[in-house]
Amino acid sequence: MKALVIGVGGLGCPASLALAPHARLLTLVDYDVVELTNLHRQPWHHPGDVGRLKVDSAAEKIRALFPALQVVSLSTRVTAQNVDPLFELHDVVIDGTDDAQAKFMLNDAAVRTRKSLVYGGVLRMTGQAMRIQPDGPCLRCLFDGPPDEAPSCAQAGVLGSMAGVIGGLQAQLALTPNPVPGEALLHLVDGLAFRARQVRLEKAADCQACGRG
Ligand SMILES: [Zn+2]
Repeated sequence: MKALVIGVGGLGCPASLALAPHARLLTLVDYDVVELTNLHRQPWHHPGDVGRLKVDSAAEKIRALFPALQVVSLSTRVTAQNVDPLFELHDVVIDGTDDAQAKFMLNDAAVRTRKSLVYGGVLRMTGQAMRIQPDGPCLRCLFDGPPDEAPSCAQAGVLGSMAGVIGGLQAQLALTPNPVPGEALLHLVDGLAFRARQVRLEKAADCQACGRG
């Protein structure tokens, strides 16, 4: 399996660790550098990595643990202009971003390129994840687009352990195709009550991204 992890932070670190034993190629993309405040929830990065590119810090640790795995690190911002070729080179993509606009941009790329994308998000003590795959529902079947004023994780705060739970779940979803064609499960995790539920989604005929138009 060739896996692409976009964002090597709170979600991308645990997701890449869980995927590494199953992957033949693991591509990490992030333009950010390691900060001291990242360390508690981004376990690839250690105190000596502060100031380094996250992709370099993570790739070094993953290569040491999984020497047979091909690890590619790209220090770039994924945009609508460069996203499609990145998706096309891989089988499955992990959304490890923390910004709503980026999540919809990745969603649209998954629909265009017919690649599987595992969406994930964490806010304070709650998290969610969903596998978007060809012919199934996408994020825009559920929401028209990003909310006008969505706080980023940095603004709203994230419990480190929730990022670990959701990142691990994303890796699991990356390895497990949705069993029913045309359906997907949105996983909702409440970290305070430690309760999870699944909402079954179907394609929306009038979806702006994947509908018949
Ligand atoms: Zn859709």
